[in-house]
Amino acid sequence: MRNKLKSLYELQEIDLRIDGLDSEKGQLLAEAQALEAKLAEAREQIAARREESETVAAEKAELDASLATENENIVRSESHQKEIKTQKEYQAVSKEISGAKKMIAELEDQILQKINALEEIAADIAKKETDLEELEANVATQQAELQAKVTALETGIAADAVTREEAVKILSASVMKRYSKLRDQRRGVAVVEAREGNCMGCNMHLPPQLYNTLFRADDVITCPHCQRILIMKQELDG
Ligand SMILES: [Zn+2]
Repeated sequence: MRNKLKSLYELQEIDLRIDGLDSEKGQLLAEAQALEAKLAEAREQIAARREESETVAAEKAELDASLATENENIVRSESHQKEIKTQKEYQAVSKEISGAKKMIAELEDQILQKINALEEIAADIAKKETDLEELEANVATQQAELQAKVTALETGIAADAVTREEAVKILSASVMKRYSKLRDQRRGVAVVEAREGNCMGCNMHLPPQLYNTLFRADDVITCPHCQRILIMKQELDG
């Protein structure tokens, strides 16, 4: 049992190391995901600006069409004016022409605003695209670094998995089951040292009788307070 307890303790050291590598890997993958999200957001912003630009261009096209119509109206009215006989009719057509001219001035003003808006959006898109290129280059570098770290971690995890298998071989299925269950319940720590009469897992005092049996280390003994498997380190090392 002495060797088996030592194996169990070593197994836990491997498992805790694997846990650490796994969580490190998880953090790196989350970082990589965050970088991807940043890129996606930058691309979405550009796409939104492009859409806006298309909307403004369509609005400008409508204004252009209205302007053309108003200009045609003036030409028609002016040619009509030449054939007019009465003063009253002449005044009515003159009013139409001045109304159209006023409309044209307004339309030209609105068109100018659209042109300015389109220029402003185009400049913004150009800037955002330059920024995106820079970001893409940065992200590519960072992703490569992250990937290298993840690969190194995976190599470490794979090596530990091999060592783990060797350690598990010596242990009985019932001890392994108990160990796994305890690890789930006790934040990964199933085996703890008993030192100076105390359980190092929960820091509670162990009954002297139980503590004494630990010196013999001939059975799996658990802490009555936290149920973790107790070991006596100097006994194991000896
Ligand atoms: Zn305990």
